[in-house]
Amino acid sequence: MAVSQIVTTALGFVASNPTLFIVGLLLQVLAYVLYSFLYSGKKGANPLQNDKRRPPEPFVYDIRSRDVILKDRFKPAKVPDNLDVIIIGSGIGGLAAGVLLSRVGKKVLILEQHDQAGGCCHSFIEKGFEFDTGIHYIGELQDGSPYRVLLDQLTGGQLRWVKMADAFDTVAVGEPSKAKLYPMKAGPGFYQNLIDQFPTEKDAILKYRDLVQDAAGSFISVVILKLLPRRLVSFLVKTGLPRLVMTFFRKGYATRTVQEVLDELTNNQELKLVLCYIYGDYGLAPRDAPFALHAAIVAHYQDGAYYPVNGSSEIAYHMIKEIHKGGGKVLVQSSVSQILCDSDGTAVGVRVGKNELDIHAKYIISNAGVVNTFQKLLPEKVAKASNVYPLIEKVGQSYAFITAFIGVEGSAAELNLPEGNIWWHDGQELNSICNISEMGLVQRVER
Ligand SMILES: Cc1cc2nc3c(=O)[nH]c(=O)nc-3n(C[C@H](O)[C@H](O)[C@H](O)COP(=O)(O)OP(=O)(O)OC[C@H]3O[C@@H](n4cnc5c(N)ncnc54)[C@H](O)[C@@H]3O)c2cc1C
Repeated sequence: MAVSQIVTTALGFVASNPTLFIVGLLLQVLAYVLYSFLYSGKKGANPLQNDKRRPPEPFVYDIRSRDVILKDRFKPAKVPDNLDVIIIGSGIGGLAAGVLLSRVGKKVLILEQHDQAGGCCHSFIEKGFEFDTGIHYIGELQDGSPYRVLLDQLTGGQLRWVKMADAFDTVAVGEPSKAKLYPMKAGPGFYQNLIDQFPTEKDAILKYRDLVQDAAGSFISVVILKLLPRRLVSFLVKTGLPRLVMTFFRKGYATRTVQEVLDELTNNQELKLVLCYIYGDYGLAPRDAPFALHAAIVAHYQDGAYYPVNGSSEIAYHMIKEIHKGGGKVLVQSSVSQILCDSDGTAVGVRVGKNELDIHAKYIISNAGVVNTFQKLLPEKVAKASNVYPLIEKVGQSYAFITAFIGVEGSAAELNLPEGNIWWHDGQELNSICNISEMGLVQRVER
């Protein structure tokens, strides 16, 4: 048979059996992935091999004792010898990496520019009131959930979570004194609660539910792509296969904005305001946010939310104690000004603050944010050689914001204060957060 005949027969087969062809191709890819996982590269130790939970110990309320852990001030003499890893930034990302690496015998140093470790898991006391700066509710922490298992392992099982009331989010629409309140309801009644509040919009709400479930469920395929060997992913992306077979890309969940999806579903502006309320969590207005991101956050909180007893600094406090067990350190007031690289562009160390102290380690991890890392910390030549660099300009930064911390005297029960968040739209405009961020500073503060 001539080559042209073979090609024609093969193309004919593909055209008449497209599903079979795609399944066959996927099986081959799977076989390749399994092969590369099982037979190539060195296998590392598993940081989650042993269950590290221990019975919860009494809470430590004494500020000085907590500060020994959370505010260990940088001094050159405190830097451990023979470091394996330096991590820039002590947010939950840096601390989680630090705990896992400590568990497999790596000596870790985490450097934090602030005077307290924890990043957005940092709480502080002012005039006798304790305030959280970031984390104030987390979803999917029911017993046995993957997040719960991971957080338990990272903190030696020392965190205690309290489930918040089912109506942990309330959407307020309108001027403060006359605002209409729409309480959300966690659990199986989530969408029925919305239908009860917008009975004429039942179809739109059910379509929204299906889209949220589909988009949030399809997120896993992107996670899998991230876990695959990079060369394989590049190959797959070049073939265009992910766009054809993966729901996430095929249905445009990453490219369609929240506003586009809501505009297609309904003309009811009040319902749109309620459905998009959670955008404060991801910091992008509906006209800019990809629907996939929105769906993932909605799904994350749909079954309820949890709060760490004794405040969000408990998370950092217990993770740092785990890092200490491996001989590592978390030092504050140590701003990294530069990542040091050798002539090949491999990161070999960091420069700390004004003292210009250089510290070296085998591995450098930056948890200081992608923009800071590529535009401020890495040498320009090294940063620009990365595939990530052009994407940073494209993605840009999310909005800055101002936080007002308000202390009230009396317990929540005494003051009859409901627990939970109120998400306020001051008018009918979906993107008001975005319009505020485009105002001048004085206007913003007045607003
Ligand atoms: C106001 C707010 C509320 C939030 N509420 C919630 C919530 O309720 N639930 C939820 O799940 N998520 C919430 N989030 C999101 C969540 O808190 C963050 O996504 C998460 O904590 C980020 O962790 P991270 O480790 O990536 O970064 P970060 O916590 O930002 O940590 C980065 C650290 O790096 C340090 N750093 C930066 N540059 C340098 C340098 N050059 N040298 C040394 N150190 C440096 C910073 O000081 C910081 O401590 C909230 C976020 C904010 C801002």
